Amino acid sequence: MGLIIVANWKMHKTTGETADFCRSILKDEKQFGEVEVLICPPYTSLTTASGILNGSTLNLGAQDLHWKQEGAFTGEISGSMLRDLGVEYVIVGHSERRHVMGEANARIRDKVKAALESGLKPILCVGETEAEREAGSTNSVIKEQLLAALEGLGTGEMKSLVIAYEPVWAIGTGKAAQPADADSACSFIRQVLQDEGGSETAGKIPIQYGGSVKEGNIGSFVEFDSIQGALVGGASLQADSFSALIQAARKAVQS
Ligand code: PEP
Repeated sequence: MGLIIVANWKMHKTTGETADFCRSILKDEKQFGEVEVLICPPYTSLTTASGILNGSTLNLGAQDLHWKQEGAFTGEISGSMLRDLGVEYVIVGHSERRHVMGEANARIRDKVKAALESGLKPILCVGETEAEREAGSTNSVIKEQLLAALEGLGTGEMKSLVIAYEPVWAIGTGKAAQPADADSACSFIRQVLQDEGGSETAGKIPIQYGGSVKEGNIGSFVEFDSIQGALVGGASLQADSFSALIQAARKAVQS
């Protein structure tokens, strides 16, 4: 399985800034080789990004979606609306959605289902808080989040997922997980996926690490067989340094 590297811009960039970034990163497209690169801008920049990335090897993702396809949900965006804009992936259950917006496991499961029904590939984020880690509950928290999100999915649907292991305490803090700890969490995730869907299905689901990833540390994560890429926040905002990060990941798996 190849690497997949996701840029999560969160609430950053106007349409003009999005256009500048996309044009700039496309200049390095050939250097990314077999690494799949995915840009997740805010909703307001999806059309701009889609217009520029169309025809390239870079893919487009959204950062969230609503759990219904339409209805009286002021301010919300549905999976079918995202597909209509050429979006292929959608992040679901990001820690900021779980812990800042208060999304519970049941809501995240509904969003995973809505994404799949719309033909979007969900990037399901799971991960423990610092207190949960200190209490020794990392694996049980991850398992609970995974099992809730996978409930009712067939193996065909499971194969469309990407899982991002993102310890909450490592996101946006500059304090990345120890690569060996990320390896053990990602291996545990693979085991849970295997128990739920069998090894053939589990073997088709990329598992990423996310949390303060940058050019200087990406190699130490992706060199583990258990980790097939990264979900990158802050270090994905500048085209030059994000490009360098992708190339560092590619180099690390080649060596
Ligand atoms: C994220 O947005 O999921 C993330 C991991 O952010 P950062 O890379 O800034 O820690």
